[in-house]
Amino acid sequence: MGAWRKEMNTALLLFLTTAVIGGVTGLFLPVLTLLMLGVIIRQVVQISRFEKWISTGGQSKYPKTSGIWEEIYYHVYRIKKNDKRRKKKLSKMIDQFRQSTEALPDAAVVLGVHDEIDWANKAARLVFGLQHTDKGQRIPNLIRFPEFIRYLKSGNYKEAVIMPSPVDNRITLEVRIIPYGAGLRLLLAQDVTQLKKMERMRKDFVANVSHELRTPLTVLRGYLETLQDMDDGHSPLLTSSFQQMQGQTERMQHLVDDLLLLTRLETQQKKSQCVDVPSLISQVCKEGDTIENASRRTQLILDTNAHIVGEEQELRSAFTNLLGNALKYSPKDSLVKVRWYQEKGAVVLAVEDQGEGIAKADIPRVTERFYRVETKRHKKVNGTGLGLAIVKHVLMRHDARLTITSELGKGSCFSCHFPVERICN
Ligand code: ADP
Repeated sequence: MGAWRKEMNTALLLFLTTAVIGGVTGLFLPVLTLLMLGVIIRQVVQISRFEKWISTGGQSKYPKTSGIWEEIYYHVYRIKKNDKRRKKKLSKMIDQFRQSTEALPDAAVVLGVHDEIDWANKAARLVFGLQHTDKGQRIPNLIRFPEFIRYLKSGNYKEAVIMPSPVDNRITLEVRIIPYGAGLRLLLAQDVTQLKKMERMRKDFVANVSHELRTPLTVLRGYLETLQDMDDGHSPLLTSSFQQMQGQTERMQHLVDDLLLLTRLETQQKKSQCVDVPSLISQVCKEGDTIENASRRTQLILDTNAHIVGEEQELRSAFTNLLGNALKYSPKDSLVKVRWYQEKGAVVLAVEDQGEGIAKADIPRVTERFYRVETKRHKKVNGTGLGLAIVKHVLMRHDARLTITSELGKGSCFSCHFPVERICN
C-alpha cells in the first residue's frame, strides 16, 4: 500500500511540475507528452528487466529497483523461494516413502491405466522376477499365471488371488489389487507359503483323524448293538449305561461325519448341475418332519420355481442343517417357516423359527467351527457346533451368502441368498 501511495505521489508531483513548466513556457501539451513518453519508456525498461529475471527462474537476487516494482520483485521472489522450499520437502518425503516401500517385506507394484508397470519395490522384483528395465511393460506379459490375468482383467478386486511365484513355484503368493486415483492400481503380494502349508497340514490332520476314527466307531457301535440285544433288562444300570453309550457314539459319529464333510467342502473340486431347489426343499422338509417327529410344524412356501446351478448333495446338507437347527432350537409346538422366493438380484431360501433366538453378540460367531451358544436349554440339545460352518462353506462354494436375523425370545431367520445368475431354468 505504501509503495502505491509513493508511486501516486511521484506521478502527481511530475504532473504538477509539468503543469508549472507548461504554464510558464506555454507548452503544456508537448511537455506532458514528453513526460508520458518518459514514464512509458521507464515502465518498458522495468518490464523487460523483470521478464529477463523471471525467465532465468526468478531464483537469483532481484535487480535493484524502487517503488511498486521493488514490491513486485519482492513478492515474486518470496513465492518462488517458498515454492523451492516446499519442493525440497516434498522430494525428501517421496524419497523417504520410496525407501520405506523398498524395504517392505511385501511386494508392491504401481500399475498404470494400461496395466503397465510404473514402479516396483525390491520384494516385487524378487518374487515376480521383475527387472528395472521392465518399467512401462504390461504386467500380464510378465506374469502369465491364468488366474492372475483373469483377476486383473475382472476389475473386481474384493478378494485376493492365490498363485505360485513365477520365479520359484514353491513360494505361494497372495496377490491383491487396490485401485486408487484415476485408473491407477497398487498390486500387493504377500508370501503366504507357511500359512498355506499350515492350513494344508490342519486339513490333512482333520481329514486323517476323522477317517481313522470311522472304523473303530463302527466296530464299537456294532458291539454295542449286540450287547443291547443281549440285555435282558434285569439290571437298570446296565440298560441305562448302554443307552448313554449309544447316545455318545452316535454323537461322535455325527462329529466325524460333519468333519469329513467340511474337509470335503474345503478340498474337493466343485461339481455343478442344475438343481431343482423347490423339490429338494420339499424333500428336506418332509425328512425334517419325520426326524424331529414334528409333522405339521414346518410350513413350506414356494414363491418361485427357480432351479439353480450347484451341487445337490451339498445344498441338501446346508438346508437340512438350517431346518434341523430351527426345529431343534424352538419349542415343539411352534411353527417353522421355510420360504423359497426371488428378490432383487437374488433367490433366497429363508428358514424362520419362533425359538429362543440368538444374542446379538453371538450372531457373528455361530458359523465358527465348534461354536455353540451357552444356554441352559441348548445344553440339553445335541449338536456338534459344525452345522452352520458347513452351511457357510456350502454357500461360499455357490457364491451365495448367509444372513442371520434374530431376536432373543422371538426367534431367528437364516437366509441363503443365491445370485440370480445361478438360476438355470
Ligand atoms: P449345533 O450342532 O450346535 O446345532 P450349529 O453350527 O448348527 O451347531 O449351530 C451353532 C450354534 O448356533 C448352536 O449351538 C446354537 O446355539 C445356535 N443356533 C443355530 N441355529 C439356531 C436357531 N435356529 N435358533 C437359535 N440358536 C441357533
